[in-house]
Amino acid sequence: MNVVASLSFTPAVGDLPFTSQQCALLTLAHELGRDKFAPRAPQWDESATFPFANYDDLRETGLLGLCIPEAHGGLGADYATYMMVAAEIGRFCGATALTWNMHICSTLWTGVLADGIAMTGAQRAEHVRRRDLHFARVVNEGAIYAQPFSEGSAAAAGRAPFGTTARKVEGGWLINGKKIFASLSGAADYYGVLCTEDKGDQHPDAHDTLYISVPATAGGFSISGDWNPLGMRGTVSRNLTFKDVFVGDDEQLMPRGIYFKGAQTWPAMFFTLSPTYLGIANAAYDFTVRYLRGEVPGEPPVKRRQYPTKQIAVAQMRIQLESMRSLFTRAIAEAKPNPSKDEKLRLYAAHYSVMEGANDIARLALRTCGGQSMMKHLPLERLYRDSRCGALMLPWTAELILDRMGRETLYEAGERDE
Ligand SMILES: Cc1cc2nc3c(=O)[nH]c(=O)nc-3n(C[C@H](O)[C@H](O)[C@H](O)COP(=O)(O)OP(=O)(O)OC[C@H]3O[C@@H](n4cnc5c(N)ncnc54)[C@H](O)[C@@H]3O)c2cc1C
Repeated sequence: MNVVASLSFTPAVGDLPFTSQQCALLTLAHELGRDKFAPRAPQWDESATFPFANYDDLRETGLLGLCIPEAHGGLGADYATYMMVAAEIGRFCGATALTWNMHICSTLWTGVLADGIAMTGAQRAEHVRRRDLHFARVVNEGAIYAQPFSEGSAAAAGRAPFGTTARKVEGGWLINGKKIFASLSGAADYYGVLCTEDKGDQHPDAHDTLYISVPATAGGFSISGDWNPLGMRGTVSRNLTFKDVFVGDDEQLMPRGIYFKGAQTWPAMFFTLSPTYLGIANAAYDFTVRYLRGEVPGEPPVKRRQYPTKQIAVAQMRIQLESMRSLFTRAIAEAKPNPSKDEKLRLYAAHYSVMEGANDIARLALRTCGGQSMMKHLPLERLYRDSRCGALMLPWTAELILDRMGRETLYEAGERDE
């Protein structure tokens, strides 16, 4: 590894032996976040509107193509590097980091993840040809991809086939169905939809899950519903409806059957929601330290650090943050196809710790800083609200992680009680 000694700041993932590429990307994300995203964050939150200006910056700096290989004009970052950079962005604007994750996943899933999933030679050739078209849209046109899979059924939890269907027709697919919570609705150029192949036999099967891109301009595609949530208000995650939407064959983002295999092979694909929340935890911690030292810009220079209760609370926050960072960085270093049982259980533990821990740290930050710190002109109350959303994101909600960890600890694969 090409190890670089230091950065001029401590990134959200902590001080690790970064490569020179990681140092450059972390610096880019830190400066962009600090100078542009943080000052704009209140406006997206207040109006519950999409951070278009931040996306112009992401496009201009090449970060929309972060995980696209350099040979295709992208920045060529791997999974671990993406996770580090995403945490840094999350530190300054949660809604930008979370929506950027949806976009990046369309390039990660079709890119490095797909490379680790077994395919026939014909499938591989078809996939490589098609993903080149999608990569080119991002690199050449600055296209944004959304990632709608939630439907309000058991499908997003991985317990049932998706109700949205795709039927094979001459030259492409006909898509019908509905998605809820589609972040980037109205902002994305393409929607990477997970749906079930309708084979006409009335027996939908999760093995037949398809991952297909629907252009925002496609006939029969529409966006509906209000968006006025507690937190992550800039994600604008409204409902999508597909009514006989025709898309061409090349919109298929993975060959038939490959998404299902991928979800079994590469569990870390669902861990990509967590860096946003590690970033938020860092932001709440950073704010608390500055506030107690009387160093928050625009606030009276009142110090509160001298009280032992404040010191203890900061220590508790730091202990929790360090344990989140340790699990997170171990899990991103271990992420790969077909992890061992221990690696998989650790991955769940990392996800749970970050999603629940972000809200714990934000809660402690508010309690420790006190009443004046929850005013709307300061970021803490927004961080508190944004942090609440992580543990309820499917497929790995905090509840479902507990459910999986308990079951997978006590039962080996295929084991059943008589
Ligand atoms: C800010 C934000 C942005 C989002 N962006 C996107 C996006 O871009 N794309 C997208 O697809 N989704 C997105 N989501 C949706 C998210 O991933 C979940 O699908 C959504 O929060 C689930 O809400 P629900 O009320 O429909 O959950 P329900 O399905 O009603 O489940 C409620 C809870 O019950 C538990 N549960 C669910 N199923 C089971 C089961 N089978 N067994 C045991 N327990 C279960 C889970 O803990 C879950 O939290 C977003 C959500 C938020 C809050």
